[in-house]
Amino acid sequence: MISATKTKIAPGRLLIDGQWVEGSKKFDTINPATGEVLTQVVEASAADVDRAVAAARKVFDDRGGAWRKMSTSERGRLIWKLADLVEKNLEELAELETLDNGKPIFESRYVDIPMTADVLRYYAGWATKIHGETVNTFENAFTYTLREPVGVVGMIIPWNFPLLLASWKLGPALACGCTVVLKPAEQTPLTALRFGELAIEAGMPAGVINILTGGPEVGQALVRHSGIDKIAFTGSTSVGKEIMRGSADTVKRVTLELGGKSPNIVFADSDLDSAVKGAINGIFYGKGECCNAGSRLFVESKVQDEFLEKLVARAKKLQPADPLDPKTRLGAIASREQMERVLSYIEAGKKEGAKLLAGGNRVSLDGGKGFFVEPTIFGGVSNTMKIAQEEIFGPVLAALSFDDVDQVIDLANANPYGLAAAVWTRDVNKAHRVARQLRAGLVWINTYGLMDAAVPFGGFKSSGFGRELGMHAIEHYTELKSVWMNLG
Ligand code: NAD
Repeated sequence: MISATKTKIAPGRLLIDGQWVEGSKKFDTINPATGEVLTQVVEASAADVDRAVAAARKVFDDRGGAWRKMSTSERGRLIWKLADLVEKNLEELAELETLDNGKPIFESRYVDIPMTADVLRYYAGWATKIHGETVNTFENAFTYTLREPVGVVGMIIPWNFPLLLASWKLGPALACGCTVVLKPAEQTPLTALRFGELAIEAGMPAGVINILTGGPEVGQALVRHSGIDKIAFTGSTSVGKEIMRGSADTVKRVTLELGGKSPNIVFADSDLDSAVKGAINGIFYGKGECCNAGSRLFVESKVQDEFLEKLVARAKKLQPADPLDPKTRLGAIASREQMERVLSYIEAGKKEGAKLLAGGNRVSLDGGKGFFVEPTIFGGVSNTMKIAQEEIFGPVLAALSFDDVDQVIDLANANPYGLAAAVWTRDVNKAHRVARQLRAGLVWINTYGLMDAAVPFGGFKSSGFGRELGMHAIEHYTELKSVWMNLG
């Protein structure tokens, strides 16, 4: 049984200049576990985009205004208060995220929402620690640098971790003194809208955070807008490329967190049981709708059969179920469109001759209106197959084998993406040697998927550029200014 929605969700509005405003065009947001409409939200118009950007611009440019006059310590306290409010409303936010995205409530409650609060707190601390330097040059000169906010930031968010990925951008942007126009994904707008209410409750000055719901056109309008200084984007590589092109005319700063096809490498000398758990977690956490999903599994040939047997047995125990049930570990695919995409990749895998070891089908729960797919594992995959090269963004694992270290490094790197990777071995030297050779923005050793607000996250190659989280994100929300003074 799929749980009935307990929360009455109000129709969405737009947050512009501290006010909630209606729009004339609306669209449905769907519960992927039931296929039912949760509520309607506004499709922001071009005029709404102009108004939101003007509000963010005004408060940023107003040198005597509340935001610019706020001390860094007060700004830090305000971000911290926002984190407290996220935590205070954790249950409601977690339920909204699960209803809108289909992810298990276990994940929303223990990862998405608590980590959102953590990220905000981490950057609340940074607000008082951003500074320039003095530079020694000539005897008669005084030279220093200032680190200033980059300006108005347009944030474009995907549907897989809706509030969490917004916090990765909001935290550093607010800490640096930027103002924001945030556009959540059209599939999952609800937590961003609730967050807007919390921002008002926290006392965020009007215009600092503006929230526009809508689809690609709203994103495109932000990218083109001359009033925006930077676009922070998380999403697919194809849209990332469009954003780069679209930003060129106004020379906007851009950071891109894009797709992935991360290799998970298991050596024969690893703790195989831990590696099995890691491989399951790596691909089925978040229904595989994780940019860093361990979607390519490389197992050393001599343990391949034993490993895959254990892996398949474990995958078969993991069946999709009611996302609101606290025991559920595999939820609903976020949208019908995404489910169809995942199923079409499964068909492609079969056609290319990969061997289906587990899953492969849509699952019908409670009348069959929800978008559930079995945990799916393909064996006998070659590195050139579509299922080994392209991001599926669903619960589908491609398992390959290898014979030695150099071969697996070459295979792992023979992919356009470079977001994450993992290595399982008891040999410390081998672990670090392989970690160094992998062309990826993050590498896990004997674990998969660990994250922390202080550790940079982002990709090499077609997985994008710029880093989120950690201290390096601060660089992407600031400009550096050099000041020269003649001392006579
Ligand atoms: P998407 O690129 O289709 O959409 C992402 C956002 O961009 C949405 O808000 C959408 O409305 C907007 N958008 C779409 N077209 C646009 C355009 N032409 N101009 C401006 N904005 C536009 O991605 P998705 O399907 O929502 O998300 C899945 C993708 O996101 C996957 O490829 C995944 O790997 C990636 N992702 C990456 C990371 C990371 O940190 N690297 C994290 C999560 C997701």
